[in-house]
Amino acid sequence: MNKHAIVAGNWKMYKTSVEGRNFVEDFVNLMLNIDDVEVIFCPPFSALFNIDVILKDAPYKLGAQNCHWENEGAFTGEISVNMLESCGVDYVILGHSERRHVFNETDEWINKKVKSVLNGGLKPILCIGETLDQRKSNETKDVLFHQLKEGLSGVEKLDEVVIAYEPVWAIGTGETATIEQVGEAHKWVRNILSDFYSRDIADDTSILYGGSVKPENAEELFGIKDVNGFLIGGASLKIDPFKEIILTVNKKLKG
Ligand code: PEP
Repeated sequence: MNKHAIVAGNWKMYKTSVEGRNFVEDFVNLMLNIDDVEVIFCPPFSALFNIDVILKDAPYKLGAQNCHWENEGAFTGEISVNMLESCGVDYVILGHSERRHVFNETDEWINKKVKSVLNGGLKPILCIGETLDQRKSNETKDVLFHQLKEGLSGVEKLDEVVIAYEPVWAIGTGETATIEQVGEAHKWVRNILSDFYSRDIADDTSILYGGSVKPENAEELFGIKDVNGFLIGGASLKIDPFKEIILTVNKKLKG
């Protein structure tokens, strides 16, 4: 079972390169004592390189928010895994609900990206989650099953893969899923992974929750059995709430 937790901040399309660098510099200067929490900053592409320079001497990781599956080519506006790697990136968020629903990314594309990220030696954070309509029509479990089946098709080893369960209706809306809903969904995800791989592999996989996580609900959410950390949007854009959430996770891990 996981003995450490991951807290990733997805900045979406916020912060310039200078703003991002200053933010991370201020965060590093807090000198937090959080050994068991892996903190990942996922800024826009334009801030990656500047932030990598600061993270060289800090115990935090760098993540990107998307990538293309090809190494290079005539793909205007896209970025490849080796380009991200050259900016010091460790993780890549893939299949975020905004990519799926605003930019119409398919499971097939997301799967190609997952494999490309793994082949490039980086770690995918594969996001899955149901829409409100799907939840209302009791399709949540099926949606999670299909997104995992398609997204992980041909992926033999899960040890470098992180899963993020993010109900679409709870992202950026201020609406958090209830403790029961999160617990049930995470259990489904772990059982699906166990069926696809093995119980041990499923137990060792980090399954993050994302959807309006904030300092006020972090303790309760992190207390849920199958929640191994968070993927955070809005609350990762300011130092204080992001720090509070990380400290809460760290404290809970220490028991
Ligand atoms: C996200 O962007 O992945 C997210 C969960 O956003 P928020 O925390 O703002 O709901």
